[in-house]
Amino acid sequence: MDIFDVVIIGSGPAGYTAAIYTSRAFLKTLVITGTQPGGQLTTTTDVENFPGFPEGIMGPDLLNNMRKQAERFGAEIKTDIITNLQIYKSDKSTNDQKNTFKVRGQNEAYETKSVIIATGASAKMLGIPSEEKFRGKGISYCATCDGFFFKGKNIAVLGGGDTAMEEAIFLTRFAEKVTIIHRREEFRASPIMVERARKNAKISFLLNKEIIEFYGDTALKGVRVKNTTNTTNATNITNEIQEIPFDGVFVAIGHTPATGFLKGVVAMDEKGYVQIRGMRSASDAHTETSVEGIFAAGDCVDSRYRQGIVAAGMGAMAAMDVEHYLQK
Ligand code: FAD
Ligand code: NAP
Repeated sequence: MDIFDVVIIGSGPAGYTAAIYTSRAFLKTLVITGTQPGGQLTTTTDVENFPGFPEGIMGPDLLNNMRKQAERFGAEIKTDIITNLQIYKSDKSTNDQKNTFKVRGQNEAYETKSVIIATGASAKMLGIPSEEKFRGKGISYCATCDGFFFKGKNIAVLGGGDTAMEEAIFLTRFAEKVTIIHRREEFRASPIMVERARKNAKISFLLNKEIIEFYGDTALKGVRVKNTTNTTNATNITNEIQEIPFDGVFVAIGHTPATGFLKGVVAMDEKGYVQIRGMRSASDAHTETSVEGIFAAGDCVDSRYRQGIVAAGMGAMAAMDVEHYLQK
């Protein structure tokens, strides 16, 4: 069986960028694509904030270019889904100085001297049937990415966490009016973020409401909501369904990193984001995980920035950390 210098799990901006760097450094590189070759950006149209494309670029084209660039330097790319990562610990008493790894996929197993995890994360969806219909046609999961397209519009942000507050505040730069829809009266968001949102004249709140349906024709026209509390007052039963028009809805109810197969392998936080050493240490391997020889980059690590360029940058960092690690 071939032994790779590095197996990169994931083919989004983090994975492909890592592959460009490692293959260009003459490391025998394998990229495993997973079910979404190219990652999240292949699900969108115009990407306007990835540097180098003054007119913007279509998400699939951007990732296709990255793939070709990695292949040009010799990276091998396979379609498989990784289900397990096995570590063969180094035995420092012998000459065996470094861990080696068996990366097990649904199709094959791959042996490697190092691993870069770049499996990304996905925005949680509400999971109601009409959501899929208007995804990208009024429903968005990323204010930084799509806010610009809602200039002067009337939009809603769904959620009560810091992301919802942050996105709502950010969206007031473009939108005429932003309504935060949340299923409770209390917020998971930090008080200071709620306060900032409350003080913003363009933001209003619709609390104790749950979206039960998105409606429209070819594009979103609004939402149907119902009360989450069965409040009644003397004259009215208030749990009727309300129809509210919106030009756009930003769903901000959290993200899930694609790291389930790494449980018990590398250290992760309570939400499943892979922990790396980070920039605080003086170490030369900011992207190294709790296991020597396993590195991680992109949205599977980063619950905060979640941007293509950030993932690509981290992919480059992980690749350089791998180079140093293998040279040591
Ligand atoms: P991802 O792009 O999520 O890629 C993860 C990869 O891992 C995929 O190839 C997947 O198949 C693979 N994978 C997962 N599990 C496994 C497994 N078990 N085995 C093998 N492979 C696996 N950012 C911007 O900068 N600008 C934008 O305009 C923008 N627009 C966006 C629009 C939408 C609709 C979405 C959803 C996101 C948008 N983003 C945008 C965010 C951006 O897409 C992400 O930040 C970026 O893609 C993260 O890159 P990544 O490489 O970490 O992960
Ligand atoms: P989060 O804190 O998990 O909040 C998710 C929100 O979505 C909650 O209010 C939740 O409601 C709601 N929600 C979840 N599922 C829902 C559903 N099916 N229908 C309707 N509402 C639903 O996620 P997040 O806001 O993305 O934040 C993630 C982490 O990043 C947090 O630790 C946060 O502090 C951090 N973050 C920080 C900043 C900052 O400091 N500036 C900015 C962004 C994110 P309930 O509360 O009722 O469960």
